[in-house]
Amino acid sequence: MSMSLDEDAVTYGANDGLGILNSLPGLVWTTDEAGTLRYVNTRFIDFTGLMNDQGESWQLASFLHPDDQLVTVRAQKDAQQGGVQLVAARFRRRDGQFILLNLSVSPMNGPGGDVCWLAIDRLETIDNPISNADRDFRNFLDSLSLQALLLTPTLELDFANHAAWRWYSSSGVPQDRRANFNLGKLEEIAFQLQAGQNRNEPAVVSYQALSADGTLRWLEAHVTPIREQNGELAGYCVLQTDVQDSRDSSHLLGHEMEILEMVARGAPSASVLQRLCDVVADLVPDLVCGFLELSLDRKLFRMGAASSLAGEFREIFDGKSVISDKNPCSTAALTKRTVEIATMAECDQHDTLMGEMMLANALHYCKAIPILSPYGNTAGILIILRHQQADFRPREQQIVDRAKHIAAISIDRTRHEEALLKRETQVERSQAQLVAAQRISSTGSFTSDIQRDENIWSEEFYRIFDLDPELKPSIDAVRERVHPEDLELFDFEMKRGFAGEDADFVFRIIRTDETLRFIRGLARITHYIGDHPVFMGTVQDITETRRAEDALRRGEEALAKAREELAYVSRVMTISALTTSIAHEVSQPLSGILANASACVRLLALDPPNIASATDTARRTIRDTMRATEVIKRLRAMFNRQSPAMETIDLNEIAREVIALSARDMREKLIVLEARLAPELPPITGDRIQLQQVILNMVLNGIEAMAETEERPRRLLVRTALASEDMITLSISDAGVGIAPDAPEKMFEPFFTTKRNGMGIGLSISRSIVENHGGRMWAMSNDGPGATVAFSLPSIEEKCV
Ligand code: ADP
Repeated sequence: MSMSLDEDAVTYGANDGLGILNSLPGLVWTTDEAGTLRYVNTRFIDFTGLMNDQGESWQLASFLHPDDQLVTVRAQKDAQQGGVQLVAARFRRRDGQFILLNLSVSPMNGPGGDVCWLAIDRLETIDNPISNADRDFRNFLDSLSLQALLLTPTLELDFANHAAWRWYSSSGVPQDRRANFNLGKLEEIAFQLQAGQNRNEPAVVSYQALSADGTLRWLEAHVTPIREQNGELAGYCVLQTDVQDSRDSSHLLGHEMEILEMVARGAPSASVLQRLCDVVADLVPDLVCGFLELSLDRKLFRMGAASSLAGEFREIFDGKSVISDKNPCSTAALTKRTVEIATMAECDQHDTLMGEMMLANALHYCKAIPILSPYGNTAGILIILRHQQADFRPREQQIVDRAKHIAAISIDRTRHEEALLKRETQVERSQAQLVAAQRISSTGSFTSDIQRDENIWSEEFYRIFDLDPELKPSIDAVRERVHPEDLELFDFEMKRGFAGEDADFVFRIIRTDETLRFIRGLARITHYIGDHPVFMGTVQDITETRRAEDALRRGEEALAKAREELAYVSRVMTISALTTSIAHEVSQPLSGILANASACVRLLALDPPNIASATDTARRTIRDTMRATEVIKRLRAMFNRQSPAMETIDLNEIAREVIALSARDMREKLIVLEARLAPELPPITGDRIQLQQVILNMVLNGIEAMAETEERPRRLLVRTALASEDMITLSISDAGVGIAPDAPEKMFEPFFTTKRNGMGIGLSISRSIVENHGGRMWAMSNDGPGATVAFSLPSIEEKCV
């Protein structure tokens, strides 16, 4: 039984439309735009238990599961706009149960914009044999957007509706349907059809066929055997749908998911790109697809992956400079635009290697598509090569676009990871360096909010204080280690820190093994949290430094003592060298005294005694005695080991004294002494004897330097001068052997000597004496022959005024 729900409904052909609907497999019904049922077939009535109430209109919605309403409304709309739709929905059976059915929704080409619904999962054997199918039935099939074929029992095409014909042939409705029809692939499903015939059941089969645009596309067909009244096979009714697009998109979607998962799992971009290449090549067979990546500095190409010809790509691009004007990939990378080569002539203008490769592989079309990072920089290139000289079809374009998109994500992620890894390695390395540096320098670091007693300590901090690394950092934990005598200091410094003051102090700690360590604590405020100062600082174990400093101090003391001893020895030696001269200096007044005293005696013995002359000679005796006493006093002072006695000194005066002491020696050695002593020289503070010692050493060196001088006057020039407002200098220049270029400094080194009997300590002691007086001492060659040795000392003009 079939029924018409609406008396005004369109009928198909001359015959009763219901008969036609009944001849179709499965549940069939039509609806108008509003979803009102217009025609239903007997199977529909049987399934749903719909009662034929006159004049009542039924909504398709009332048979659908509430959750499936939306999908079906959408399917209806899509069918009206874009052709056949396949959709699954739950349908209410007469017993109230919802059964999931696969629906094929097809717009009807007749007036009114109705939609024909076919529940294809309910396909049943068509009772009406095909021979009974009249013209109306074929007209009806023609009006469907669903592709319908009628086949003979031997699988020959008997009928194809307009929709099927449009799909198979691009040249419109053919004269000879059979001739232009490509049914090759149907042969392959013969076995399944035979199986269907045997079991008297409909079959759902998928297969590829060559479509009007020349591409192989996937079709899904519901094939129902048609039987004569007597049960004999009359043929097949094939209702087929082009499922290529939905298959592609579900394939693409599936692959996309899988590849994105790879990216998410952190797979290396090379394997992600390889998978992408394979998928693209699988979905678009006539195509070679390759990816090039750009190095981080974007200067070089790196081979990414390729669906085939990977070796060729590698040879042309891997490690090659991006900057090349002839290469399509370079151009694409630099201009960030897609570069297309559609003819061989164009190809010749480009890179020869690339051209040769295309020629050798019969590839006639090339596209280099830049893959851009989210910041708009070129991250890689997608190369597409194909045998046909043609741009992409929309479906291929979609696939290529998706591939490019995923590649961008993958390359970007890999680059990020590379950069991150680099940064992480750098951080790890500097952390390791820091730990090592802290260890080597015995310096721990910390941050501390003293007020809240919130602290972070470095590894070395724990080690220095000999604390358990698991211990929660606290000021008390450190305090427990502090030496009892330093607790007061420690608490005081903590209190200052609490009040927000920086700290720098040394304290002692006692470690668990009872060893004593000196710690220098340094803390500076780095920032505030609220009004709490946060300190960053270091603790350094300075015990070893302390010890070394102590040792150094002790060493320096010993050195100073040794130097003093040496100075003494040197003084003795210098003076012994002067013995002759001194003997003369002393013996001269002595013989004066003797002569004068004898004269005095003689004069007094005269009668009358010559008192006036005797008085004169007695005065001369006294003068000479005083001279001798003075000489002896000086000698005593020089021989005496006295600690430095600081006094105010006139440098000119002590220079004169030294000159006086060595005058005879100089005369004997034919030395002409010239003293140019600056008048009104400000005084200095110093040890008279020590400074005389320095000058005497300089004079003796000058004399010795001229010992061999024959060809020129042996001139010794002693000068004093005011070098600046508060410095005075004394220099002694000779015309002697002079000094070697490297000697001016060496001369001052202890034990440097060029003399056979020299000790080489005079100048080194002299310099340390001068430096102890706050001055400096140096030597230089003269412009002419000889050398000048000089020192400068601070004057005390202000104090004297
Ligand atoms: P010594 O006189 O025992 O060698 P000094 O320390 O006084 O020790 O002098 C070190 C050296 O400096 C001398 O041996 C000599 O080579 C050099 N020297 C010092 N004064 C002069 C000078 N006026 N001219 C040339 N060389 C000098």
